[in-house]
Amino acid sequence: MRAGPSQEEIRRHNLGALLRHVHLGGPTSRAELTSRMGLNRSTIMALTADLTAAGLVREELPRETGRAGRPSLVVRPESARVYVFALDVGVDRLVAARVGLGGTILDRREAVRRRGPFSLEEVAAPLAAFARQMHRKTRPDTVCVGVAAAFSGGVARDDGVVRFGPNMGSVDVPFGEEMARRLGLGLPVAVGNDANLAALAEHARGAGSGCRDLVYLHGDVGVGGGVIAGGTLLGGHQGFGGEVGHMIVNPRGRSCGCGSLGCLEAEVGERALLEAAGRFDGAGALVGRDAVRAVVDAADRGDIVAQAALKRVGDWLGLGVANLVNIFNPEMVVFGGMLREVYLGSAAQVRSRLATDALPPVREHLRLRVSALGDDATLVGAAELAFSQVLADPLEVLARAGS
Ligand SMILES: [Zn+2]
Repeated sequence: MRAGPSQEEIRRHNLGALLRHVHLGGPTSRAELTSRMGLNRSTIMALTADLTAAGLVREELPRETGRAGRPSLVVRPESARVYVFALDVGVDRLVAARVGLGGTILDRREAVRRRGPFSLEEVAAPLAAFARQMHRKTRPDTVCVGVAAAFSGGVARDDGVVRFGPNMGSVDVPFGEEMARRLGLGLPVAVGNDANLAALAEHARGAGSGCRDLVYLHGDVGVGGGVIAGGTLLGGHQGFGGEVGHMIVNPRGRSCGCGSLGCLEAEVGERALLEAAGRFDGAGALVGRDAVRAVVDAADRGDIVAQAALKRVGDWLGLGVANLVNIFNPEMVVFGGMLREVYLGSAAQVRSRLATDALPPVREHLRLRVSALGDDATLVGAAELAFSQVLADPLEVLARAGS
């Protein structure tokens, strides 16, 4: 028989839980933490004292309570002192940011990435340079507690190796290891699939905050996603789960980069929309988010070709969403990346497909939303991944970071 958790294990767990509360919820009074965490006042006081001594939070008197009696101290995350580096490798851009505890973006750098064959040097060198520039600007009393990257590709959960990606075919790039070596911070670099991380970000801080079951769909050149069931991201056996873009919706449809026909990605991705709108003519044609927005704007202005293109894409998108909601019964579906624009331009079509193809009890309470974090969802997700260790065991991570 296994013994129950020790006092020390319970304390560590509670320290992490309290830190997570103020990290996600912002400054919170001790009284509120007491009721939210279901612990007594003296335990909350002891936990905040430990976190304050470690420099992770600080306590302040609230400004105005308007209530009689002694006000409850407010616990705030030490955002300027404790931070992570979040990296985002998108199809069209590279972003590095320094993000403070509590989720504040303190500093960021961004570069345009040219589409084309993947090269580790072309991605890792600018990101490492950005992180070094930002690191040099930090005060001496600050501490970096984690680094993580969102990668537009399939990432193995155990080793952070990128196995495949758009315009890359099948590759085996030890991206996390390479970034850790170049950064030289003495910290490992966790890597996650960008759509999975964006799903976690929308769940933690965005449109799906408070939802336990949600499906997130992310459009880039390809279509990715993340399924959150009972508050947990479904990763599958090796971490490649949630590749909703390769769900086949039209077996006699357009060919997909993965080799199949009629994947959701092939029917609703950027290229499908631009071709249907007669705007994909190879060299010189506008691509990316601006091109997608231009189609939605044209449809708004009455352009019938653009309207037909959105109707076509919205129809396949609705079919894909109907399949997903029938399987997962989420409370909410969130559209992010370029699918945010596509959904806004084709909501009627998506809803009409759901009305015919989703099971009635499943669609009754379903909410359809666009990403609240917008283009930063993947970056915010990377930051949350980077914070996950310190939130799991604050004192241990801080001791390691300071050593
Ligand atoms: Zn495919």
